[in-house]
Amino acid sequence: MAKQAEDAHLSMLIGGEWVDSVTGETFERISPVTGEVLATLPNADREDARAAIDAANRARSSMASMPVFERAALCHAIADVLRSRHEAMAEELSLEQGKPYREACEEIIFAAELYRDAGENIKRLETSIVPSVDPNKRILTIRQPHGVVAIITPWNFPVAIPSEYLSAALAAGNTVVWKPAPTSSINRTAMMDEVGAGIPEGSVNLLFGEAEVGDEMVANPGTHAVGLTGSSAVGNAVAQRAGAKPILLELGGNGPTIILDDADLERAIEGTAFGCYFNAGQICQSSERILTHDRIHDAVLEGLVERARKIKLGHPLDEATTMGPLNNEGVAKKMDEHLADAVQKGATVVAGGRRAEGFPTTLYYEPTVVDGVPPDSLFNHEETFGPVAPVISTGDVDEAIFIANSCGLGLCCSVYTSSLSKAFYCAERLECGVVNVNESAAYWDGRTPFGGYSGKGSGVGRLGGKETILSMTQLKSMVMDVRM
Ligand code: NAD
Repeated sequence: MAKQAEDAHLSMLIGGEWVDSVTGETFERISPVTGEVLATLPNADREDARAAIDAANRARSSMASMPVFERAALCHAIADVLRSRHEAMAEELSLEQGKPYREACEEIIFAAELYRDAGENIKRLETSIVPSVDPNKRILTIRQPHGVVAIITPWNFPVAIPSEYLSAALAAGNTVVWKPAPTSSINRTAMMDEVGAGIPEGSVNLLFGEAEVGDEMVANPGTHAVGLTGSSAVGNAVAQRAGAKPILLELGGNGPTIILDDADLERAIEGTAFGCYFNAGQICQSSERILTHDRIHDAVLEGLVERARKIKLGHPLDEATTMGPLNNEGVAKKMDEHLADAVQKGATVVAGGRRAEGFPTTLYYEPTVVDGVPPDSLFNHEETFGPVAPVISTGDVDEAIFIANSCGLGLCCSVYTSSLSKAFYCAERLECGVVNVNESAAYWDGRTPFGGYSGKGSGVGRLGGKETILSMTQLKSMVMDVRM
C-alpha cells in the first residue's frame, strides 16, 4: 500500500488508495495548543462511506482466509512499527489532541501492546465441544469474523482507542471501516501508514468526517458489526441505527471515587488527583466525583488543592508541562457550564475555576477543585470531562454508595479503604462495570474486561484482552451426524 504524501493536506484511505472526498470538500484541523492550522482533511459524506464499505467487502474473503498465525504476525509487526515510530507520532498527537508529550508517548506504546495482545489472544482462542443428547451427534463451535466492522472513535485517546478495536478486529480476520473524531484525525493517517503495511488492500479503510459518515457506516447493510467509543447520546443514536447488528458501545462515565475514613489518605489523594487531571480530565474513567467521608473531608480537600497547584499547565511539548489544553471548545464549554451550575447551587471553588489566561488559545483550563458540590448538580449527574475535582461530603458508606449510584452513568469507579470487608461491600454494590480498590478510577491495564454497567448509559459489551476478540467474532455451531 502506498504511503500518505507528507504535506499539510491529508487524504482518506479507501480500498488501499489515499483519496480525497468525492465532493472535494475539506475541513481544517486547528491545534488546541497553538491555534494554528495543522492540516486540511477531506470531509467525507455518505458516498465516500459507501465506497469504503464496498472496498472492505471486497477485501473480506482475503482477510478471513488469512491463516490465524499470519494475522497474529501482522499484529506483532504493527506493534513493532508503532513502538519504533512512537516519538515522531507522539509529537503530532500532542499538537492535535493537546496532551503532554510524555502522555502521548505512553499512549502509543500502550496501543502497540494492544496489537501484541490481540496477536497472542487470537492464537490461543479456544472454543468448545458440546455434549449432545443424541449419541450420533458431535457438536463443536468455531469463532469466525463478523465481516466488515464499522469502528467509530472519539478524540481523547486518538491512537489507543482505535487500536483497541482495530487490533482485535484484524486479528480475528475482519475488515474495517474506521472513522475517527474530526478533532483528532491527523495522527490517524500516520498510524494507517504503519498499520496498512502487509494487510490485504481494502482491509482497513479510513474516513474523515462528521456524524453523517458515522451514521452511514452504522446503518449500511454492508457493515456487519459496529464498535463505537463516544458519548452516551451518540451511543443511543448509534444503537437505534445499528438495529440487530452485533454492537459494542463504550460510552461516557462519571467515575465516583469513594474515600472512606479508614483509607490511606496519601494514596487516596494521589490516585484521585491523577484521575481528575490526567489528560486534563478528558477520560471516560476520570474521577468525576469525590465522595469523601465527613471525618476526613478537610484533609482530602487540602491534599487535592495541593496537587492541583502543583500541575504545570502549558505547551504539551515543553518538558515541564504536566497538563495541556482541552481538545475543543465543546468540552471547555461543558466545564464552564458544570462549574457555574455547581456554584449557583451552593458549591465553592477552592482552586482554579476558570480558563487560564496568557495562552495562545482559550482552551487552557486551570486545574480546579470544587467543594460542597450538591448531589443535584450537573457534576454529580453528568460527565464533565474536564480538569476538575468535585468534592461531595458524605456520612456513612451507604450514603456514599447511594450518591455514587444516583447517576445515570456507570462505567468506572474507585474505593479507598483499608478494610477488605468494606472494599467488597462497596465493590459489590456500586453500579459500574469496573471497580478499582485503592487505585484510581482512571487505572486500566488494557486487559481487564472494560465496559458499562447494565441499564446505565455507559455502554454495552466489553473491551479488554480476550473480551475484545470475543466481541469481534461470532460463534458458529457445527452439528455432525456421525452414524455409520
Ligand atoms: P462523541 O459521541 O461526540 O463522538 C464519538 C464519535 O462518534 C466521533 O467520531 C463522532 O464524529 C461520531 N458520531 C457523532 N454522531 C454520530 C452519529 N449520529 N452516528 C455515528 N457516529 C457519530 O464523543 P467525543 O466527544 O468524540 O468523545 C468523548 C466521549 O467519548 C465522552 O463521552 C467519553 O466518556 C467517551 N469515551 C468513552 C470511553 C469508554 O471506553 N467507555 C473511552 C473514551 C471516551
